[in-house]
Amino acid sequence: MSAVETPAVLLRSHDYGDSSRILRFYTRDHGLVSVVARGVRGKSGKGATTLASFASGQLIVYMKAHRDLHTMKDFHCTALRSGLATDMLRFAAAAAAGEVVLVHAEQEPQPAVFDAMQDALDTLETAPSAELPGTALAALWTIIEAFGFAPQLDPCVRCGTSIVDAQVARFDFAAGGLRCEACAQDAAGPRVGPGARAQLALLLNGRVPAGLTHTRQHLGLVSDFIAYHLATKPLKSLKFLGGMLPADSVATGA
Ligand SMILES: [Zn+2]
Repeated sequence: MSAVETPAVLLRSHDYGDSSRILRFYTRDHGLVSVVARGVRGKSGKGATTLASFASGQLIVYMKAHRDLHTMKDFHCTALRSGLATDMLRFAAAAAAGEVVLVHAEQEPQPAVFDAMQDALDTLETAPSAELPGTALAALWTIIEAFGFAPQLDPCVRCGTSIVDAQVARFDFAAGGLRCEACAQDAAGPRVGPGARAQLALLLNGRVPAGLTHTRQHLGLVSDFIAYHLATKPLKSLKFLGGMLPADSVATGA
């Protein structure tokens, strides 16, 4: 049995038996890969300190066809990202991004998703504190975009007319985008005004809009979108993240 080598990021792990762990990696070349890492627990365990959540590196794994659980040969950590573990908001955002990948990714490789996840984790580790809520939103939207589910912001998903600047559009989750004002009457999704649309466009490009407020409403929007298109139920990590975002002192309606 030959080993394969692939760039990988560790998303989740749990103990297995007396000295082993089961690790779930998202890999660039093989999608989601679960492995048994034998003998890695305890102080003398080989590589134990680098097998932390959200560490990236080169994974070397013995892969058997038609199996869900493989055997890890080695993991050469290139980015430990220990900065994520020192700040609850950074860690909560990384966990939410990781859960989105865990619930939607398969064993088919999607390199764009892998790259988006890597970029998201690097940015979450280093972003200034004031930009963290926006950085968390950008991380989630860019991963959705990489999966191929970016919402259509313009034109209207129903009639195809361009949504002009002054309009208050409305989300149509089933159609995967916005309806113009004329088509918005019977849409159930949240209203999205011109300001929020401009912010969404930036977030989808991985950029944090200047002076971004209402980050809880933004998280509600991206959470509903994820629940509709990528997951089968609301994700706990997104709810947890929402509780850590700042509440806006003045409710003006987005
Ligand atoms: Zn329309």
